[in-house]
Amino acid sequence: MSLTTPRPRVLDPLDLLGLDDELTGDERLIRDTVRDFVGKRVLPQIAAWFEAGTFHKELALELGELGLLGMHLEGYGCAGASATAYGLACRELEAADSGLRSFVSVQGSLAMFPIRAYGSDEQKATWLPRMARGEAIGCFGLTEWDFGSDPIGMRTTALRDVNDYVINGSKAWITNGGIADVAIVWAHVDPQPGTPATGSDVRGFVIPTATPGFRTQNIERKMSLRASVTSELIFEDCRVPVDAMLPGVSGMRGPLSCLSEARYGIVWGALGAARACYEVALDYAKTRVQWGKPIAAFQLTQNKLVDMALELQKGQLLASKLGRLKDAGELLPQHVSLGKLNNVREALAICREARTILGASGITLEYPIVRHMNNLESVLTYEGTSEIHTLIVGQAITGHAAFT
Ligand SMILES: Cc1cc2nc3c(=O)[nH]c(=O)nc-3n(C[C@H](O)[C@H](O)[C@H](O)COP(=O)(O)OP(=O)(O)OC[C@H]3O[C@@H](n4cnc5c(N)ncnc54)[C@H](O)[C@@H]3O)c2cc1C
Repeated sequence: MSLTTPRPRVLDPLDLLGLDDELTGDERLIRDTVRDFVGKRVLPQIAAWFEAGTFHKELALELGELGLLGMHLEGYGCAGASATAYGLACRELEAADSGLRSFVSVQGSLAMFPIRAYGSDEQKATWLPRMARGEAIGCFGLTEWDFGSDPIGMRTTALRDVNDYVINGSKAWITNGGIADVAIVWAHVDPQPGTPATGSDVRGFVIPTATPGFRTQNIERKMSLRASVTSELIFEDCRVPVDAMLPGVSGMRGPLSCLSEARYGIVWGALGAARACYEVALDYAKTRVQWGKPIAAFQLTQNKLVDMALELQKGQLLASKLGRLKDAGELLPQHVSLGKLNNVREALAICREARTILGASGITLEYPIVRHMNNLESVLTYEGTSEIHTLIVGQAITGHAAFT
């Protein structure tokens, strides 16, 4: 038995179990680099950007320079980072704002990933290096006004005409749409009139946004993800060569595999937004005095803070496990659903609880909480709503599909 008194270990209130201590040196470097970048470049201005409803396009080049665009992909100027490193970057970006993380997720997981996984050599060489540098911005068009959770019924069509496809239809709620240089667009190819849509004829197209017949219209008056561009994509006899089609995938497997990639980033990202709110609430509780003492000294406030810290740790354990599964090539879409369902739901609950700790001050943009809360309402809905992820996990554990 040692005669020396063990040095008392102090809990880190932001990481009770010391989970970040398990990160490798490279992963810590990525975490710290992104934290430093958002601290200097984004946090001082994000409330104003959110209020004005603007996304600063020049950030793309800076994010590219940091190697964060398509960072989990290999080759073509992409960093080839581990799933955990990519998750950490998402977490630290979203600690600043979900709009920033959305930009990076869409660029890397929804636009670059399908080109990398399913594109021709020419598509990869044309787009990926520029997209990795942030010189070209991508978007992903799956959702339509009338087809959200159930995209198979999409009305956008691509009809073959000699050496071209002619695309007609529209896509709604498309992140980066109005600032994109290239769109990955999913459409029914040569649908047979009167035949029910099964999704097997869905194909992806890589379409430069300057193509005649392609225009965009931004969706305004959003109260969520205001520092992010969300748009409608409109195709009116938009003619693209046959080699604009992604040759490597057909059917709904194409868009769904991209969504699985992006949802993985959300599992981590939501923790960043939640941590930011918890941190603000903890600081505030220690300094705000009511009834002659800091509100942190009241049992009810401590109950809130402890629950928040606990859920953050549980969410982090879940995200870290998914990261290890992804790196081992064992991550299933159902695992990702489990992670997105839990971490976004709990992140939103943490933000709302943090807001109560700040009382009236919690509703202003002086603090980040109400901005994160509003942003997470979009995160709860996009990339599969919490109801849809519940149904995916429900099917996995019961064997019954309850979607219809
Ligand atoms: C800010 C923002 C950015 C987005 N970016 C993109 C993008 O870049 N690309 C893209 O393609 N899409 C994007 N989307 C669209 C997003 O993916 C859809 O909003 C989402 O899939 C839900 O579709 P919906 O809004 O039409 O809701 P609906 O599908 O109409 O659902 C409405 C409600 O009904 C519930 N519901 C639906 N089906 C069932 C069921 N079977 N059982 C129980 N409940 C059900 C849903 O869970 C939800 O609560 C974005 C959305 C937002 C808000």
